Amino acid sequence: MLSGKSAIVTGSTSGIGLGIARGLAASGANVMLNGFGDSGEIEAIREDLANGHNVKVLYSGANMADENEIAGMIAGAEDAFGGVDILVNNAGIQYVAPIEEFPVEKWNAILAINLSSAFHTTRLAVPGMKKRSWGRIVNIASAHALVASPFKSAYVAAKHGIAGLTKTAALELAEHGITVNAVCPGYVMTPLVEKQIPEQAKARGITEQQVISDVLLAAQPTKRFVTVEELAALVNFLCTDHARSITGTALPVDGGWTAH
Ligand code: NAD
Repeated sequence: MLSGKSAIVTGSTSGIGLGIARGLAASGANVMLNGFGDSGEIEAIREDLANGHNVKVLYSGANMADENEIAGMIAGAEDAFGGVDILVNNAGIQYVAPIEEFPVEKWNAILAINLSSAFHTTRLAVPGMKKRSWGRIVNIASAHALVASPFKSAYVAAKHGIAGLTKTAALELAEHGITVNAVCPGYVMTPLVEKQIPEQAKARGITEQQVISDVLLAAQPTKRFVTVEELAALVNFLCTDHARSITGTALPVDGGWTAH
């Protein structure tokens, strides 16, 4: 379905990004993985995807908080693949604390990784997409791009920013065969969510079990976590030609959360 296309998925050594990278490789796209983690485990994932789907799979350890490393990653993918057709901005971190206690360095890191990195990857990948008159940019935002929750000031600000960047880029690129969309997941049980359960328990003065039932799943009318596979399937669809009229959207995949 996507054979002949090449993709970068930022933050794809874990969780949602890894699921999206798997989905794109299974559809025949070459993929550049990115993110942090154990080098042996990352190499095993890289080999598994390349051999399992007969596509080129590369890895960049570029830090999404560093615009020079981002530029190196995009240039490396363009050299190795001959172009970046699909850009999935997924890398993200979370930190939960009341605003008056929110560490300034956490605010700066969340804005850099969750928002500014998507500006840098987009500005650098767009010239090649324009030349080929085809491109797909998918920003993994969040239900928190549409609504807020307490104690997540930096994350909610960055994700609302991603929704704005998505709309602006979609308008600028609409006549070039390039679509730009934001996917807005509700809660998915990945390391990012597992880590915030004790932080939420501390900020709210409740138990970790209460965080799961009364905070996380309370927001989701389906009362179940969204899965990585559900998100990968949507991203795959957005990358097909059938989705060429879908652009500038913020698509909720949140079990009904933002219908409240
Ligand atoms: P995760 O922690 O499992 O994965 C995050 C990935 O980003 C990892 O590969 C990590 O190495 C990478 N990463 C972190 N900092 C990086 C940096 N500075 N440079 C490069 N890579 C970096 O998290 P996840 O839950 O899979 O989250 C992925 C995206 O989905 C994030 O943008 C997150 O905000 C969003 N999201 C997650 C949920 C959820 O419930 N899990 C819900 C909505 C949106």
